[in-house]
Amino acid sequence: MYNIALHLTTDPMYFHSGSTPQSSYDVRPRRPSLGSVASEGGIRYAAEAGPMSELMPDFLTEEATIRRVLARLKREAGRPSDQLLYVGVHNLSQFWWCAMYSVLKSRDREWQFFRAVLIDAWRYGSVLSKFKQIPRSAARLLEILSTIRQREVEKRWMAPEGSPDIPWSLLPGLTLRDLIDPLDDDHAADPSSEHAESYPTYRWHFQRGGYILVGVPDGLSEHFVYEFKSAASDSMFRKVARPVGRTQADVYGLMYHRPDKRLQVYVRDGGALETLHEPVDKERVKETLRKFRSVDKTGNAMPPQPWKCRKCEYASICTVRPAA
Ligand code: SF4
Repeated sequence: MYNIALHLTTDPMYFHSGSTPQSSYDVRPRRPSLGSVASEGGIRYAAEAGPMSELMPDFLTEEATIRRVLARLKREAGRPSDQLLYVGVHNLSQFWWCAMYSVLKSRDREWQFFRAVLIDAWRYGSVLSKFKQIPRSAARLLEILSTIRQREVEKRWMAPEGSPDIPWSLLPGLTLRDLIDPLDDDHAADPSSEHAESYPTYRWHFQRGGYILVGVPDGLSEHFVYEFKSAASDSMFRKVARPVGRTQADVYGLMYHRPDKRLQVYVRDGGALETLHEPVDKERVKETLRKFRSVDKTGNAMPPQPWKCRKCEYASICTVRPAA
């Protein structure tokens, strides 16, 4: 029987929060390495396929299959299939933009976060030699994930020589962005922007507040998580980028065991780069999760200011949208 908890590692570091990581590594700023994946003129597939790439389980490319497996996993764990389990950190943090938007978007994208976890099982498991036979099911991938410790991923992916080659290259139907980060669709906040600082990073997930949170910070140093965003104006910086970015960085601080967070927001109108460097706020994470969970369970949320609804992609299904 599948077990959702199967892949939740018992690594003590995994559940511990706020401590300095045990591994030390080169923290000189540098661009996140994508292993062997080439990137010229935007996102594209790897230039060359490693021997493992052809063996990638093709069920990972099919949305309907992923959704079906996820629903079955929840059912077998006694969890209603319409209750969220896998939640993207960016989507969670958007609670501070609109509570209902945060939940509706999380529901819409849940299958992608589940897939991200399965893909991580594959790529980390491949590089760390956690399996000999090709995994051909989600259950097997989750089993493999349960044997992978965050600290060993961190050690390998944060190594001074850069990230290892990743056997993920030829997945039809997926973009490189899907594979690396289907989570933060704040396209304007490109962490490779000339305004952003550059640090290594890797994707991980952790269990908190009844959810499995999945995310990848824009960077990691030994003592802080780094998050980069951009905002159209000073007003949008204050109303959106700062509260959402702060929360996102706080969650990453817990997930990645860093005591501090560093948020930078490039304000396009005026060209200012706002920098916020402060301790990770665990209380903000708790509060966000508690409120998010309440909206997820009850479907009730405080409506935001009406201007926020003007271009909302979920307006047609939203039950709390204020009258214009
Ligand atoms: S329509 Fe408005 S209230 Fe509803 S999810 Fe969108 S932004 Fe939030």
